[in-house]
Amino acid sequence: MKLTIAHLYPELLNLYGDGGNLIAMKNRLNWRNIECDIVKVPLGQPFIANQYDIVFIGGGQDFEQEVILSDLKGDKTKQIIDAINSNVTFLGICGGYQLLGNYYKTKDGQTYDFIGALDLYTIGQEKRMIGDFMFSCPYIDNQLVVGFENHSGKTYLGKSVKPLGIIKKGYGNNGEDKTEGARFKNVFCSYSHGSLLPKNPALCDYILQTALQKKYNINLEELDNTLENKAHEFIVNRLK
Ligand code: GLN
Repeated sequence: MKLTIAHLYPELLNLYGDGGNLIAMKNRLNWRNIECDIVKVPLGQPFIANQYDIVFIGGGQDFEQEVILSDLKGDKTKQIIDAINSNVTFLGICGGYQLLGNYYKTKDGQTYDFIGALDLYTIGQEKRMIGDFMFSCPYIDNQLVVGFENHSGKTYLGKSVKPLGIIKKGYGNNGEDKTEGARFKNVFCSYSHGSLLPKNPALCDYILQTALQKKYNINLEELDNTLENKAHEFIVNRLK
């Protein structure tokens, strides 16, 4: 058995160690004797989204997000929307999350049309939302998820998109409605850098599970998460 993961724009969207999410997914599959190939898809490379089981898009500054917009337009946007609607698993972090929405209005009032795959939008502001944060996630029995956020964009979800969780400490989507991240079909988005998955093993396995269910209709066996849980509890205790 094998899962293939596409890493979109690895040279541009990889802030604050977001590539660590790929290492976590690969290792947690390999530890269960499931192969995992990670394919980098840089700017200008063709991208057939449904050739992949998981698509990962990391975070980036406003500048990098603007740089890739022209590359995303046209076929890549259609590929991404079609793949999302056929339940391909996506993980979008911060800037990669925002890009899947309808638009981003910068703090200077410039509006950029984004992919429009998820019914959400982002409004930039002067003040940045920075720091360790923590949210409860209903998809893993309301367990706590910890991470690090650094964004100026405030994201607001439309009716067809559910939050990934409810903020317990920190800002999350916008510092107003207590939502964090987004879930639509098998798309998982979060403002959590750090990276998100290594110290949140239950969420990592849940995301992997959606791709394994779709491809092989199998469930993941449990792993010993002692080290991951120690890292998780360290941040939880720091936020108490
Ligand atoms: N440029 C976006 C913002 O500032 C995303 C930042 C990020 O990916 N950390 O909101």
